[in-house]
Amino acid sequence: MQLSCMSVVRLRPHHLLCIRGFKGRGYSERFVKNFQEVLRRLEQNPTIEIVEGGDDICSACPHFRDEKCLKSENSEYKVRELDCRVISRLKLSTGVKMSYREVSNLVQKIPKSELPEICGKCEWIKYCTE
Ligand code: SF4
Repeated sequence: MQLSCMSVVRLRPHHLLCIRGFKGRGYSERFVKNFQEVLRRLEQNPTIEIVEGGDDICSACPHFRDEKCLKSENSEYKVRELDCRVISRLKLSTGVKMSYREVSNLVQKIPKSELPEICGKCEWIKYCTE
């Protein structure tokens, strides 16, 4: 059996869209550095696991505390709703493991024009739709 040195990248559903639109901006220097490290890992086409709740991007976010998104009032609830919209749009489910290339191909099929409907009032949407 061939052993892989690549570790599984854990991603919550809406971060699949954030990855596509990432322009080097984020909530803190540590957050951006970690995001870039996740992108570097994804370039190797690792296995990704679609997770419910916090993931490998949330883990370095200043808003992530007690395993929750505490960015604003109700943000944990809102971000989970956003995750639900994305996962249902991709016709996937949490717990699924697949290659990053496979999931990325699905994400690329979502037109930018659909993002306002999916992402709602996300503060970063201007970067994803430009
Ligand atoms: S704002 Fe919330 S969902 Fe986004 S990375 Fe931070 S903790 Fe995760």
